[in-house]
Amino acid sequence: MPKYSLVIPVYNEQSNIPALYQRVSAVMDELDDRAELILIDDGSHDRTLELLRSLHDRDDRVVYLSLARNFGHQIAVTAGLNYVRGDVIIVLDGDLQDPPELIPDLLALWRQGYHVVYAQRTKRVREGWFKRLCAYTFYRILKQLANVELPTDTGDFCLMDRSVVDLLNQMPERNRYLRGLRAWVGFRQIAFKFDRDSRYAGSVKYTFAKSLGLAINGLVSFSIVPLRLSTYLGLFSAVLAIVMALLVLYWRVFTNSTLTGFATIAIAIFFIGAVQLISIGILGEYIGRIYEEVKHRPLYTLSEVGRKLGIVDSE
Ligand code: UDP
Ligand code: MG
Repeated sequence: MPKYSLVIPVYNEQSNIPALYQRVSAVMDELDDRAELILIDDGSHDRTLELLRSLHDRDDRVVYLSLARNFGHQIAVTAGLNYVRGDVIIVLDGDLQDPPELIPDLLALWRQGYHVVYAQRTKRVREGWFKRLCAYTFYRILKQLANVELPTDTGDFCLMDRSVVDLLNQMPERNRYLRGLRAWVGFRQIAFKFDRDSRYAGSVKYTFAKSLGLAINGLVSFSIVPLRLSTYLGLFSAVLAIVMALLVLYWRVFTNSTLTGFATIAIAIFFIGAVQLISIGILGEYIGRIYEEVKHRPLYTLSEVGRKLGIVDSE
């Protein structure tokens, strides 16, 4: 049984895999015990799976899983976590933005007794300003609203003790915001500050829509404050309406000015309409998730698994 398990999801990363394997295996060679490298192909359309197969043929430490279609990064990592055999697990991105050379430093903290070592980005100079601005604001809003202590500027790059991964594997939820779930379990957690590299090759696989989806997922999974927002807005509108009614009454009784104004009415209608639609939308986010959860579908489907010294099967 390997002692260390590295989990790396890859989606259309054919141009990164050779370099990734080279750097990761160099780090694995230096470790003091056996390690396994679990690569998850998240339904890639390029040569990713072929490359994974050939790595697996060449190197017994390489395990690969192939998801039957693209399930998204969080689910791909989840699938990998379901297959780990080590005592300690490290999750990295497949584009070399998370330097594998830091693994020994993460392990040093694990040996000191930490159950979770999450990598925290110090700067993101290598990413565009828009992405940085969105990420910066999102992490801070989430920190305010979340019902658990969620550290800012941390991604999925982390080390987790086996006990933490076992708990994550027991969590049945479909809408997985892993960095939140990881914080939720508790235990001894520590940040490890690092400078995030830029993508080695290929293009970003997290489109704006996927990032936004992840952000909404994080918010909805860890906070019910948005639901209260409609109550607050409702109360605010009610107060506004009463004040306006009193004002109109005052004008009618004590002055001889009459209220005219199509604009006022139009604005009021649009405002109330907007508040209602936004509230329904927020409700929808939660109800949609309830619906997804109650369906109890499996989290992912696998089309192929390659693992030596254990199960080797394929369909
Ligand atoms: N990824 C994945 N499935 C997806 C999208 C991304 O497995 O649907 C993987 C991708 O191959 C990479 C990691 O998730 O290893 C992070 O993606 P990316 O670098 O595109 O996003 P970033 O986090 O850098 O914005
Ligand atoms: Mg990346």
